[in-house]
Amino acid sequence: MLRNTVRRFIEGRVKPDADAWEEAGFVPRLVLREMGELGLLGIRYSSRYGGSELDTLATVVLAEELGRSTYGGFAITVLVHTDMASPHLWHAGTPEQLDRYMPDIVRGRRIAAIAMTEADAGSDLAGMRSTARREGGQWVLNGSKMFITNGVHGDIFFVAAKTGEPGRNRDISMFIVEKGTPGFRVARPLKKQGWLSSDTAELVFDDCRIPAGNLLGEENKGFYALTKNLQNERIVMGAQAMGEASKAIELALDWTTQRKAFGRTLWENQTIRHRLAMRAAEVEAAKALVYETAWRDAQGQQVIKEVSMIKALCGTLVNEVMYDCLQFHGGMGYIRETAIERMARDARVQSIGGGATEVMLEEIAKRLV
Ligand SMILES: Cc1cc2nc3c(=O)[nH]c(=O)nc-3n(C[C@H](O)[C@H](O)[C@H](O)COP(=O)(O)OP(=O)(O)OC[C@H]3O[C@@H](n4cnc5c(N)ncnc54)[C@H](O)[C@@H]3O)c2cc1C
Repeated sequence: MLRNTVRRFIEGRVKPDADAWEEAGFVPRLVLREMGELGLLGIRYSSRYGGSELDTLATVVLAEELGRSTYGGFAITVLVHTDMASPHLWHAGTPEQLDRYMPDIVRGRRIAAIAMTEADAGSDLAGMRSTARREGGQWVLNGSKMFITNGVHGDIFFVAAKTGEPGRNRDISMFIVEKGTPGFRVARPLKKQGWLSSDTAELVFDDCRIPAGNLLGEENKGFYALTKNLQNERIVMGAQAMGEASKAIELALDWTTQRKAFGRTLWENQTIRHRLAMRAAEVEAAKALVYETAWRDAQGQQVIKEVSMIKALCGTLVNEVMYDCLQFHGGMGYIRETAIERMARDARVQSIGGGATEVMLEEIAKRLV
């Protein structure tokens, strides 16, 4: 039912307008509100806040279908809100914080963003330089954040900053910062290769004062919260990537079985159909890893190694699949009106964002010996 609901929404509401969102550089907030009304933004959250109380597998279904939309920018706008930003509140929020923010997030009335990365600290999050210091009943934030999805249009930001003594690199805390707080501003929206309908920004905190009650979770324990939430993020990104890859293969099948060259369809060339057959097999295998890991995660099992495998494998495979599927579209694959052209651009970031492939391989390697 969930899969069908997402598919219907994408066919009826997303595809007709998504090219315009790509041009505009963002997804209109009304679209998230409509998804909220359909119950798609709080799949794992308590019904107290309007959620559906489902598990990791349901999130994977959502992410896979959003990936199949062929609009990666739309997909990531939603998934950052549902699975990368709001889980920070869900896991660490006090009852007051949950009551205050969760209903609006689940209904899509306010858009969530997660601000970890800085210009000089991405893979190495402990290298971040933003700070927060306590002054009476307030925290004062200083620093900047880079590549923040939903940075321009977001309303609620979960921001990581150093709160320990100098040199204590993992003494990081998380804070809730609302749009419009004095001292917090968007430095600039960032233009990207792909994910064009996803807004990405650099943010600045300049003596930004927030109430002491906006500390999210325990002081100095934010590094572990970031690491924990990245597990879910990586499962979801793997599911999204495999949704995109399956859809790309379907588009390539449509094209190669119709397009003729040298008196036969492209599909009649064994080299092409064997390549697509192998890609289809690889995608099915990767999907199986995603689903099995999601199932194990839902059972409460430890899946750090598998999650790193998902991110490394799916982030690489989606790019290989896009390369082949674009190649078999010939010149049309390079033309903007063809979905595969956009999908190939969108896929590029998936071996970088949310844990670069090389960093994931280190995480796997550590757990192999
Ligand atoms: C479009 C987009 C959206 C994003 N959205 C968000 C967001 O919403 N919130 C947020 O906080 N962040 C976001 N990010 C940041 C993203 O997670 C980081 O870009 C990513 O973690 C990589 O960090 P970096 O760019 O600083 O690369 P670096 O850490 O500088 O790494 C550069 C490259 O070096 C290699 N490398 C790094 N470390 C190692 C190592 N130990 N061994 C071998 N090779 C290594 C990898 O190939 C890596 O890609 C986003 C990024 C992009 C591009």
